[in-house]
Amino acid sequence: MRTEADIIARLTQKIPSRIGAREAADVPLGIGDDAAVVRARSGRDWVVSTDSFIEGRHFLGRLHPPNAVGYKALARAVSDLAAMGATPRYFLLTLALPQRRAGNWLDDFACGMGGAARMFRMRLIGGDVSRNQHVAAAITVIGVAPRQPVLTRRGGRPGDCIYVTGHLGAAETGLEILRREGRRALRSNLYSIQRHLHPVPRLAIGSWLAEKGVASAAMDLSDGLSTDLARLCAASRVGAVIHAAALPAGSGERLGIRRSPPRGEREAELRRALDGGEDYELMFTVPLRKASRVPTHFHGVPITRIGELTSRRAILLETNGRTRPLPARGWEHFARSR
Ligand SMILES: [Mg+2]
Repeated sequence: MRTEADIIARLTQKIPSRIGAREAADVPLGIGDDAAVVRARSGRDWVVSTDSFIEGRHFLGRLHPPNAVGYKALARAVSDLAAMGATPRYFLLTLALPQRRAGNWLDDFACGMGGAARMFRMRLIGGDVSRNQHVAAAITVIGVAPRQPVLTRRGGRPGDCIYVTGHLGAAETGLEILRREGRRALRSNLYSIQRHLHPVPRLAIGSWLAEKGVASAAMDLSDGLSTDLARLCAASRVGAVIHAAALPAGSGERLGIRRSPPRGEREAELRRALDGGEDYELMFTVPLRKASRVPTHFHGVPITRIGELTSRRAILLETNGRTRPLPARGWEHFARSR
């Protein structure tokens, strides 16, 4: 029988939670009391977001390795900080789990989460554990941003160019392979499986965009381009045209310049690039006069211009000079089916 104290000890053994000299000025009191204390400092803002990661909904207990579950639970929450141009610092973890997951599974989960915390230089400052039939994690992340306009979804204007980082649809391809091949697919070192299990939040690009004041709007792509673009456009009160041939598809090749792949394969790749979720890339918009300041790569990550915002509030896909409406077909939690 595992106790709450045992579970907390297992977590804090593997996830950095000690408040050192670097953190003491921000967090005079960390994990272990009734609440943590986060101290406000002038000249900068705390940027806060929360995200849940639930067995059977966001991951499958029989398929996904606990290490990757722990890593990804934190990484996907951190992606929201990247989208705001903030630097991650602290997080709180609320974890519910069944008794049978409170041993080795929990150790591996904590290992994965600890690796992510070290990678993003974050400290665990609190949380809660409870027992449940399935694993459910809720993570609150706290980042810091200098007091200047952070990146929001609201600032896009008609005529602004739309950019995305990385490749789109890779994570969905990885999930499809994992579902089809089962756990033996984990031994393959496929790029798409890596993208599905270990997405890398685009923190450096996010803070560069915020610092330089290049982007008019930004968000991360968690639920698929077609769905997330509709959200950005609604917040900015604009429409958009996306050019199919420009999309950086999951294979790493642009659809338009690929050597004539079979038609079915090409269609599937386009659908994944438009509707595939969990890429955790950034999408941002840039006024035309600043477009020359956007590099083609940033720290090795490609940045691709895929379309423009329009004053007409419709979201369109252009293929070979013809446009048609682009329906939001990404991940929607409360939809009956996809
Ligand atoms: Mg987001």
